[in-house]
Amino acid sequence: MIVASERTVFFTGAGISTESGIPDFRSPGGIWDRHPPIEYQDFLASAEMRRETWRRGLETYAVVEAARPNPAHLAIAELEHLSKLDALITQNVDGLHALAGSSTERTIELHGTSHGVRCLDCDRRYPRRDVHLRVLAGELEPSCLFCAGILKPTTISFGEAMPVDAMMRAQAAARGCDLFVVAGSSLVVYPAAGLPETAQRSGARLVVVNATPTHLDAGAALCLEGKAGEILPVVVARVRRLIGAAPR
Ligand code: NAD
Ligand code: ZN
Repeated sequence: MIVASERTVFFTGAGISTESGIPDFRSPGGIWDRHPPIEYQDFLASAEMRRETWRRGLETYAVVEAARPNPAHLAIAELEHLSKLDALITQNVDGLHALAGSSTERTIELHGTSHGVRCLDCDRRYPRRDVHLRVLAGELEPSCLFCAGILKPTTISFGEAMPVDAMMRAQAAARGCDLFVVAGSSLVVYPAAGLPETAQRSGARLVVVNATPTHLDAGAALCLEGKAGEILPVVVARVRRLIGAAPR
């Protein structure tokens, strides 16, 4: 299907990074088993919620910072180098697609990135690591060094507006593709999870690569149940052979 396709779009979720050691949200033992998510309104309204965000961040971001791309990220990056990937839409905030070699031009981060921090008042940006150093030094709720505004990690929280530009690019990619491959997403977080249906309505075939069933499996052209890090390298190796490209 990839070889025959003119425009393939990949759509990834937390499941693409579990094999890199970053837990997903909905599997047993995932992040939400331990911490319910902090919604945007609660973050704005409560200093205690902001402190809790930074406390948790020290723990969760350490895992993200230490993580390396796995064979699933590398396979998707290779597909782009084989000129067989039109766009990569990701719900992940870990930056592992970029580390694997996927280009910023073709990668659309729908839920922001965990590597940055921004001031909600003046929009100044800080590296996450620098702000964490301030928290570790005793600032329980760090604020903007320029305007004293509230700082927040550049991940999109529940209740926060989606980044307009990323969402528009993702919708255009979904509408324009002929093959839409979901990898490692439970497809329950909207509006992101509406993209596969947008693609199908525009005539694209849907493929789902996931460890557990999703509600779109029944209407998919193909479902591959298992680990993305085991399935995608096999798929991409076959694409490489079929189009006659040399192994990287
Ligand atoms: P999710 O946790 O809802 O679902 C993950 C899905 O991946 C599950 O259906 C699970 O069965 C499957 N899965 C787990 N390991 C897999 C593997 N090795 N191979 C194939 N499938 C596997 O994740 P979601 O759909 O991305 O939605 C959760 C939200 O949480 C997203 O919006 C995302 O922004 C955020 N999130 C991001 C990260 C990250 O950046 N790595 C981690 C956790 C959550
Ligand atoms: Zn500021």
